[in-house]
Amino acid sequence: MPRNVKQAIQKGTRSLDGKPGKNYWQNKARYAITVTATPPSRTVQGTEEITYTNTSPDTLKYLVFKLFLNSHTPGAVRQNLAGPDYLTSGMHIDQYAENGTTRRWPDAHGSTVQRITLAKALMPHDSVKLSVNWHYELSVQSGREGLLDSTTFFLAYFYPRVAVLDDYNGWDRTPFTEAQEFYSDFNDYDLTVNVPKNYVVWSTGDLQNTAEVLQPTYANRLARSMQTDSVVHIATQQEVDARQVTQQKDVNTWRWKARNVPDVALCISNQYIWDASSVVVDKATGRRSSVQAAFKNSANDFHHMVEFGRHSLDWFSNNLPGVPYPYPKTTIVQGEADMEYPMMVNDGSTQDLDFSRFVAEHEIAHTWFPFYMGINETRFGFMDEGWTTAFEYLISQADLGPEVAKRNFQNFRVVSWIQDASAEQDLPIITPANVLSGAALGNNEYGKAALGYLAVRDLLGEASFKKVLHEFMARWNGKHPTPWDMFYTFNDASGKNLNWFWNNWFFSNNYIDLAIQRVESTATQCTVTIQNIGGFVAPVDITVTYTDGTTATFHQTPGIWQANQQLATVKIPVKKKVQSVVLDGGIFMDADGSNNRWPGK
Ligand SMILES: [Zn+2]
Repeated sequence: MPRNVKQAIQKGTRSLDGKPGKNYWQNKARYAITVTATPPSRTVQGTEEITYTNTSPDTLKYLVFKLFLNSHTPGAVRQNLAGPDYLTSGMHIDQYAENGTTRRWPDAHGSTVQRITLAKALMPHDSVKLSVNWHYELSVQSGREGLLDSTTFFLAYFYPRVAVLDDYNGWDRTPFTEAQEFYSDFNDYDLTVNVPKNYVVWSTGDLQNTAEVLQPTYANRLARSMQTDSVVHIATQQEVDARQVTQQKDVNTWRWKARNVPDVALCISNQYIWDASSVVVDKATGRRSSVQAAFKNSANDFHHMVEFGRHSLDWFSNNLPGVPYPYPKTTIVQGEADMEYPMMVNDGSTQDLDFSRFVAEHEIAHTWFPFYMGINETRFGFMDEGWTTAFEYLISQADLGPEVAKRNFQNFRVVSWIQDASAEQDLPIITPANVLSGAALGNNEYGKAALGYLAVRDLLGEASFKKVLHEFMARWNGKHPTPWDMFYTFNDASGKNLNWFWNNWFFSNNYIDLAIQRVESTATQCTVTIQNIGGFVAPVDITVTYTDGTTATFHQTPGIWQANQQLATVKIPVKKKVQSVVLDGGIFMDADGSNNRWPGK
């Protein structure tokens, strides 16, 4: 445990059994945001009223703000290369007021993290009203937000936001470098979007004034889509071209509400077509969620996107994580990001339907981690991408069968790590993500972490794993769990001290390389001695080939390594004479397969 986590346990905000401590707190804000866009002008104007409540025991003399879009400014620290079309002048704060009194915003340009001293210190359990007016220019080259075409805009990270103040780390001052996105309070949003007629807006939240912005035919179709399993074509290309979808006021004002969510994002277009349907996500109550897609008519895969979305919501709600989809809707927007937002997905179009579905499933799975669970992705991205990648593998097994899912997972999530012997690839997964970059960051968060979770599932067995995962999700839904809260909850809820496993998989420089050291057979038993060269306590299949040519496979969970993590002796009951033995980890790929056979070459 790092010192700040130990201190949180001493202060009683967290606990050694993994439950939120009796002194747990987190701050919350209400955002009333209005944005105005008049494409093809790339300028976005915004105003917001933030009501920020301090539930911490401390008096706050200043607040920390995140101005994410300053990552577009020339010279900003970025983890990716940026061409000239990506650069903008960033966020411009035009006016700022605290409790109605105009104040100077100290640093109008530059950093993605800015500290604002309050005129009046914010006492515990008090709140402050902040008003901010701002504008920015969308970048021509789209990343996770920006221009999708000349009159299709994707807005994300688009409003000045109070950073998270938490009990174990204080203010989150990690700069936004475009590698880690989400660590947000659970806020309430009232979002108003002003756009010219014939522009449709898709956003996080529930649309409050459908009849004011859509013509009756389209408003009726949208309402119908929320009650049916069939795909409703809300606006076809012909209808978009005929300019008859929205009300014909010069400016339409679209109003959205979202409660207890970590962020909002939106898309504006006068070109995209619109499909929608819905699906029962909670079989116990019959609750339906809306599934919508906004895309170019020419994108073949997106004509299937609502079906893919329905399938994702259904599968994840009822299998793993097995917690009903928590939101009233999801909208999958054709973009270039392959990126999740609460109730919104921004995905590229591909020619490969299986791959398009795979990406949509992955981004929708993020609904649970990081959004439902309030993960601190800036430091512990492996709790966000790792879980999502594990669920992605499990839904792929259902979609494509175990063999294809295994090959895809190996090629897409494991090879780039296990076949790269460089030291940074084997840094411990617990290494804070904000100090990593490049391939080491990616593999730690996605493949290695997902394998860790899938190994725990293998160790506990499906029923116990699901029970324990649900206990973790029930305890920490809507809060900010750390990795230690997760590890301790798994220990507590499983009734097992799994620290040997956590230390091995999440806190070590291990990798996967098992080797057969020895095989000894009697008439009834084959004893396989396995050496763990790489150190990771991976599950493994032992396949025995008998002298008559038949084979049998014996699955071993990570439990074989609990007593001794260097050497495991596995006794297999046999009735026939053993000719050869092979170790196969499946998705738990071995860095050196040459020592996985007996007899050796
Ligand atoms: Zn992801």
